[in-house]
Amino acid sequence: METQPAGTEPKMDPDPHVPMLDPDAALRLVLEAVTQLEPVELRTEVAVGTVLAETIVADSDYPPFDRSMMDGFAVRLADAGREVAVVGEVVAGGASTDPLPSGAVVAIMTGAQCPQGTEAVVPVEDVADLGGSVRLPLHITPQQNVAARGSECTAGTAVLHAGRLVTPLRLGLLRAVGRTAVRVRPPPTLAVISTGDELVFAGAVPGPGQIRASNGAMLAAMATAAGAAQVRQSYAGDDPEALGVALEQAAGHDVIVLTGGVSAGRYDLVPAAIAAWGGTTVFHGVRQKPGKPMLFATRDRTLVFGLPGNPLAAHLGFHRYVRAALLALMGIDPRPTGARGRLRQPVTVAGSRTVFQLCQVDADDDGWAVTPLAGRGSADVFTAAAANAIVRLEPDGGPYLPGDEVSVEWLGEAPPGPVRPGGRPEHTDLLAPIAARRSLRDFESGPVPPVLLRRMFEAARWAPSSGNGQPWRFVITDNGSPAFDRLVATLRPRNDWARAAPHLVLVAAKRMYEHPTKPPKHNRFALLETGLSLGNLMVQGTADGVLVHALDGFDEVAAGEAVGVPEGFEVTVMLAVGMLSTVPMQSGVQAGAGEPTPRQRLPLVDLVFRERWGEDGSNR
Ligand code: AMP
Ligand code: MG
Repeated sequence: METQPAGTEPKMDPDPHVPMLDPDAALRLVLEAVTQLEPVELRTEVAVGTVLAETIVADSDYPPFDRSMMDGFAVRLADAGREVAVVGEVVAGGASTDPLPSGAVVAIMTGAQCPQGTEAVVPVEDVADLGGSVRLPLHITPQQNVAARGSECTAGTAVLHAGRLVTPLRLGLLRAVGRTAVRVRPPPTLAVISTGDELVFAGAVPGPGQIRASNGAMLAAMATAAGAAQVRQSYAGDDPEALGVALEQAAGHDVIVLTGGVSAGRYDLVPAAIAAWGGTTVFHGVRQKPGKPMLFATRDRTLVFGLPGNPLAAHLGFHRYVRAALLALMGIDPRPTGARGRLRQPVTVAGSRTVFQLCQVDADDDGWAVTPLAGRGSADVFTAAAANAIVRLEPDGGPYLPGDEVSVEWLGEAPPGPVRPGGRPEHTDLLAPIAARRSLRDFESGPVPPVLLRRMFEAARWAPSSGNGQPWRFVITDNGSPAFDRLVATLRPRNDWARAAPHLVLVAAKRMYEHPTKPPKHNRFALLETGLSLGNLMVQGTADGVLVHALDGFDEVAAGEAVGVPEGFEVTVMLAVGMLSTVPMQSGVQAGAGEPTPRQRLPLVDLVFRERWGEDGSNR
């Protein structure tokens, strides 16, 4: 599968299994090899998605005449408040040559040219129709509802500069200024060559030892999506001669992408075939996962990529390098579009390679939530199919815990963004008062501050549904108070943390980790699943107690680490929005002071509030 790189430049690590070239350096080398394509003249309709190679200038004034913006009457200001005769009508497209007589109005339609002398257009709904004449309103603003000639743009103005991407809106602009063809950087041409004697076409039933070829179609589609034109596909098996022929047939394309046969196995013939064809290897091997054996070569201005055969390695190689090259050839900024999101699950990055992990990113109340799709390696297209983004994880960047902020790149269009209906407050605002408190002890020292109460009620208004159609509600109380007892009495056992995922803030009930009878001397304990993510909350055990916070770095206790729990000790974690969880620390999980307890899932109980609780804890 993945083997040592065969290339000679740039230099490789002393360890033959770890290529020196990091993914950013590799991308730089690819982009350095790109020369923008020579401009061509394209019909405007097919120019969408390309970059202008000329600056577009307005051929005349826009609007080209004083244009009515409403259906109504062209009037003179002096006639405000008067009854005036309707002496004519101008429709859109009709040229009005007669000037507007004083003491009279002309009916005019939206888009029609205002008669000479028009000082305003009064909408039809603002006049009293008297049959043949109208009464005008008392107040008429000069030039109201008139788009004056040249008010949008005057003749000779640059309206689109060279280097701008042609979008559908800009196509509209090109057409408006009379352009039917423009000079643009053309879409690149691309050829995909699949290798591998074990492949059969997707329509066939594979025989023993055979698999269906899937990369060619996938890569061709990615090329089209990136803007390439004339995408050609061919197949060369694992045969040097066939490879040479396929490369020769692909010559003349701006980009050639081979898939498979790029490692150092006996039948990995692509590097040699590219060399024999006259290509110069720029790099072979990138410190990345998947796709380490990837190769990049050039012949004249042709860019040649040898991507591994494993579908996800091929996908990553195309997404990250080939796509960037295609965009750069067209003069488009090749940087991927991405976002910052928060991990939903922990991820382990083993080894020394940068991991580009397919992931599913969706919007929750606090932004983008990132679920890495681990799958079973770089051939697992089944898990991968759920992905809409790639998350980048560095080997020295971990441990990656739930809630950690990570960078993702979209695989296609960004999904609809995080929703904040009706100006939902930013979670950072909501959490600010809590984030400032680094431990639950801080909440013991006094009442919950009013500002926090207010923010919590605000938050609750926007709280998402509990999943069964009921909105979350919340209560603020102390343990020991009647309201608290009532809550506890209605607790319903549940073991599934993930389902109990409020998105907002924590209410730390006072004295929540205090044993009712014992003095809190053994106050070291752990929630046995530290680093647990509840939406955007993180629950961690600390030396002080359970800490629920807004995902900023707390390092008192590492994720998964557990410390001693005094026997009979009870911990209550109370979350603001409609959930209350208790973690009874039963005997049996006790360990010596400071000794890690065995990892064990404790019964968790949460509460779905179905009643409205008052701010004072009363049930109204
Ligand atoms: P290779 O890079 O040639 O060693 O191939 C690595 C793995 O990817 C092997 O299991 C191949 O069968 C598989 N593979 C190679 N080419 C394709 C392709 N076009 N479609 C799907 N799988 C492929
Ligand atoms: Mg192969």
